[in-house]
Order: sequence, then structure tokens, then C-alpha cells
Amino acid sequence: MSDCIFCRIVSREIPAEIVYESAGCVAFLDNQPLFPGHVLIVPRQHYATLSDLPDDMLAPLFAATRQIATAMETVLDAEGSFVANNNKISQTVPHLHVHVIPRRKGDGLKGFFWPRRGYSGDDHRSEVAAKLRAALQPGSKV
Ligand code: 5GP
Ligand code: ZN
Repeated sequence: MSDCIFCRIVSREIPAEIVYESAGCVAFLDNQPLFPGHVLIVPRQHYATLSDLPDDMLAPLFAATRQIATAMETVLDAEGSFVANNNKISQTVPHLHVHVIPRRKGDGLKGFFWPRRGYSGDDHRSEVAAKLRAALQPGSKV
């Protein structure tokens, strides 16, 4: 028996309100929702973080995310959605999961609800961009 809560939800060892299933993914209601209809989407296989997810699971996971985000605007009268994924920091369950949260104007969730910390100046911004650009070039080993 796995000691991962989300593996146990996928295998039905512990109950959850499952709302979507595909060959690769399962989605269920978060049991401590930000708002009713807050859904978590997980790959069936245990991968700890987004960086661990194999290529062939990218499309299934994001397709499910899109489908669920779209459905909640129709059936839950949401005006929009917030899609989020914690990796390591603030990640309380180490089985990759995507949060899809229904949003309405004035719901109190203020866009990005984290403090914003800017760049110390133009050089700092350029330096950060250059590091990412180099790492993300085709053929980069990073
Ligand atoms: P994280 O903080 O890792 O980004 O999100 C984990 C989420 O999993 C939290 O929002 C939490 O409420 C939810 N969660 C934790 N344990 C359970 C559980 O046993 N069942 C369900 N349905 N959700 C859970
Ligand atoms: Zn797991």
C-alpha cells in the first residue's frame, strides 16, 4: 500500500469526490477548497513534481486542466479560473497536482495573492532574463 495520499485516492483506497478520469489522469475535489469546486488533477502514476513528469504526460495533464477549467465556467457559473501548481515549496502533498479553482469577480482572491518583489534595476532584470534564455535555448542541457 502506498503511503502517498494521492496514489491512494487514485487506487480508491481512500475516498474522494472524483470528477474526471482519463487513461493518465484523475481529478477530484480538494477537501479543503479555496472555493467550492476547487479541483486537483493528478497523473495516475506517482511523480513528485512537474519537473519529474515525462513528456508523454504533458499533453494529457494540460488537456485535463483545460477541460476542467472550461467546464467550471459552464456548470459552476464561474467567471474564470485560477490554475496553479506548487513544486517543493508550499507543496504539501509530494505527488504532482494541478489546482483548478473557480473564480468570480470580488471573490477576495486577489489575482496573484503573494507579495511582489521586483528587480533591483534594469541590469538585474536583464541578468535574470539572460540566465533563463540560455537555459531554455534548444539544445541546452539545463
Ligand atoms: P499543495 O499545498 O500541495 O499545493 O496542495 C495540496 C492540496 O491537497 C491542498 O489544497 C489540500 O487541501 C489537498 N488535500 C490534502 N489531503 C487531501 C485529501 O486527503 N483529499 C483531498 N481531496 N484533498 C487533499
Ligand atoms: Zn503518489
